[in-house]
Amino acid sequence: MGTPVDKREEYRYNRLTWAEMNDAIARQPVVILPTGSTEQHGRHLPIDVDLLLCESVCLEAGRRAAGDILVLPPIPYGLNQHHIDFPGTIHIEPEVFIAFCLNVTKSVAYHGFEKILIVNGHGSNAPLIDIIARRTTLETDSLCAACHYINLAVEKFREIMESQVIAHADEFETSLYLHLAPERVQMELAGADDDVMGDYVSSDSTTPYVRFNDYWSRWTDLGVHGDARPATAEKGEIIFETAVSRLMELAEEWRKWPLAARRDFHDRPAQTQIRW
Ligand SMILES: [Zn+2]
Repeated sequence: MGTPVDKREEYRYNRLTWAEMNDAIARQPVVILPTGSTEQHGRHLPIDVDLLLCESVCLEAGRRAAGDILVLPPIPYGLNQHHIDFPGTIHIEPEVFIAFCLNVTKSVAYHGFEKILIVNGHGSNAPLIDIIARRTTLETDSLCAACHYINLAVEKFREIMESQVIAHADEFETSLYLHLAPERVQMELAGADDDVMGDYVSSDSTTPYVRFNDYWSRWTDLGVHGDARPATAEKGEIIFETAVSRLMELAEEWRKWPLAARRDFHDRPAQTQIRW
């Protein structure tokens, strides 16, 4: 028999009972949905990179936020047809991904949680989570926003990075994995692959112009974009601490974000809300 946990401190959504959920709804924490992928990440990293890194950041932010964040079970798969030539990658059709995640966010909204935040770890999910956040906001009485955890740490990482680009299975992701689970990183197999970069069209996740994704078997033998070799656990710790603290700040801002009533500016008689 263990001592009962104070459930105000519980940050994992599915560790609550339905009765405890009523208390959580009354408190109005930000409900976070982590989205990842099951996708090749070079010869040196397991295929759970996007899921592990993203969920770890979310869970630690939740743990430190002491009741102001609840973290849903993560979505482990994403849009990945472009990696399918590498063994093990799982692809979910974008329409299926959007529909599935919308069912999750709409369920959360139905229960009365007003602030939902999708935190993504897989670049190619980006346009999909944007649509999911918009549709959740437009089609429920709650607000939903979406972000990419990498963006929260990019600025800080630029101060310490030794390679040139932030893309895939590279210095950034490998460093963070080394911080979280070094025993699963095969650094002796870590390599570099030329990033596909034009003046405008690039595979760099942070390009300001055109981020292009082809079938990855057309442009890399290794499954890497960028250079994993300068990765270290020390850099990973800096990435992790930066991402966690900035996610907590973001969640706090989102928790306090006003949720105002809609207004109808037509001259015609008021109508019931349109729900597409
Ligand atoms: Zn990745």
